[in-house]
Amino acid sequence: MSSRLSSPSLGGVTVTQSLLELRAILDNATIGIMFTRNRQVVQANARVAEMFGYQRDALIGLAGTELFPSLEAYEALGHVLVPLLKQRKGYRGELQMKRQDGSHFWCRISAKDIDPSRPLEGTIWIMEDVTEDRLIQQALRQSHEKLEQRVAERTADLLAANVKLQDEVFERMQTEQRVWQMAHHDALTGLPNRALLQDRLDQALVQASRYSHQVAVMFIDLDRFKEINDTLGHAGGDELLKEVAARLKVAVRAVDTVARLGGDEFVVVLNEISGADDIVLVAEKIIATLGQSAHIENHELHVTPSIGISIYPDDGADSVQLMKNADTAMYHSKSAGRNTFRFFAPAMNDEASRFFKLEHRLIAALERGELVLHYQSLVDLDRRAVCGMEALVRWFDPERGLISPDEFIPIAEESGLILTVGEWVLHQAMRQNRLWQEQGHPLIPISVNLSPRQFQQKSLVGTIRNILADTAQPAHLLELEITESTLMHDVNETLDKLKELAAMGVKLAIDDFGTGYSSLSYLKRFPVHKLKVDRSFVRDLCDDREDAAIAAAIIGLARNLDIDILAEGVENEQQLSMLLNFGCRKFQGYYFAHPMTPDKSALLFHPLHLGAQDSLF
Ligand code: C2E
Ligand code: MG
Ligand code: MG
Repeated sequence: MSSRLSSPSLGGVTVTQSLLELRAILDNATIGIMFTRNRQVVQANARVAEMFGYQRDALIGLAGTELFPSLEAYEALGHVLVPLLKQRKGYRGELQMKRQDGSHFWCRISAKDIDPSRPLEGTIWIMEDVTEDRLIQQALRQSHEKLEQRVAERTADLLAANVKLQDEVFERMQTEQRVWQMAHHDALTGLPNRALLQDRLDQALVQASRYSHQVAVMFIDLDRFKEINDTLGHAGGDELLKEVAARLKVAVRAVDTVARLGGDEFVVVLNEISGADDIVLVAEKIIATLGQSAHIENHELHVTPSIGISIYPDDGADSVQLMKNADTAMYHSKSAGRNTFRFFAPAMNDEASRFFKLEHRLIAALERGELVLHYQSLVDLDRRAVCGMEALVRWFDPERGLISPDEFIPIAEESGLILTVGEWVLHQAMRQNRLWQEQGHPLIPISVNLSPRQFQQKSLVGTIRNILADTAQPAHLLELEITESTLMHDVNETLDKLKELAAMGVKLAIDDFGTGYSSLSYLKRFPVHKLKVDRSFVRDLCDDREDAAIAAAIIGLARNLDIDILAEGVENEQQLSMLLNFGCRKFQGYYFAHPMTPDKSALLFHPLHLGAQDSLF
């Protein structure tokens, strides 16, 4: 009974035992368990005491506020907790709590009334120190934030790098484009250059062969561009080339190609043409457009082109052959009087190869000393003496024998070799005269022919001055023979040059007079010393009354202008006596002497040896 009274039984287990068990649970629980009533702690397990840093006994009866960092925190919880409890709900949350030593820690709390039906019975608090969790979470959050920040930074870096890369790619593309442009275009005119032309032509030929089209290659060379360039100077010449390029582009269709090979050479490729008529139209258009005046540096210029045309497939199967043949045809336009066009014909190749062969052989001839000078005497009947010697160049070619200057001088002129040949002639003639003087022969002037290109050379006066000094010859013993066309070429420049030469004492003769178009009014302005009546008038003097009239007029003109007059090509006595009747006293011709080697010519210095016609004297 007593045992029943002191220890009531609960399902076979005594209350005491049950309490002991509950206490054991409380004491060993790893979470804090606390009971409060009337805002005071009434029970707390060991874990609560440990968490809050109190002796367990000290906790009992402690005001709830003591466990909170501040009264405000305590009341703030109350505002949330009390209504929840009234609704018979529990509270769950994490709050900062205060230890006995005043330090704070984070606590996960769930609070509930012990018996919701009797709220005054008290509240049970389950508590867990989550400071460490919090720290870990905070650390996690921080490292997450850091990571996010790093990712954001990296992303920004990548974005910037990407933008930079794109800029670089763009720049590189632009540079490559520029390099390509430079490598394939002519810097001056911006037209395709030889490399790009080759490419375009090759492509055009592939297309043409696939679809059975024709393609035309036009080789365009500006006539006398060198002279224009010399007159304008390089800047002016460049301007003109740009103007020509612009006009050529306008003259053709967009599908065609206009290229510049360099210098004054342009090439036009006409794609997909249906026949020669198309090409003629374009060629005429080009001639017309270039012929319109161009204003450059206060000059009004008219450019004329010489055009050579080859057609695929008739004139060549590939670009090399087509270009070569168009070039050959261009030379034929030049010799046909320029400012025109010529279609290629196979026969042109024979002529062209002869021309080029001769040019090459002439270069070799100069080096090997195969050029020699012969001299033909100029005779003064009044003084019964030789009054001069004309130096005439001869080419003794080992293969072909003697080649006439009429054949090779034009080639030398065209190729520019005349400058070398001409300088050699001047030097050689002056050296010869000096030799004759040293041999005791009388002082006589030597006549040297100057070709147009040689005369137009800027350095001519300087070259002559040097040669005279070199050979110790006075200037008055040199007579330069130029033709009327040379004289009339660029009147102002010619006048300056002639004045300079005349001032030095060099004499000037107009060769082949009567065949050119010199303006008589100019004759007076130029310091001309002598006119040489062309031998074509002398040849038919006795039979052709017109020739006789012209010869008589020239002789009369010269005498009136007080210019020396000499008749060339006198071959017989009849011609001589007619010329004497017209008032001419100086002569040159086979009747007196042929051109001869220096040694033989020297014999003519003696009055008794004026030639075969000594009896005349
Ligand atoms: P040119 O200056 O009118 O020279 C006179 C030409 O007439 C020479 O021909 C000469 O041999 C020829 N001749 C002289 N008397 C007679 C004659 O009675 N009857 C005929 N039928 N012909 C006669 P060549 O030597 O063949 O020279 C031809 C042209 O070549 C020269 O004509 C001249 O324009 C040019 N030439 C000659 N040597 C040189 C030179 O060193 N430099 C330059 N630039 N041209 C030259
Ligand atoms: Mg001459
Ligand atoms: Mg002559």
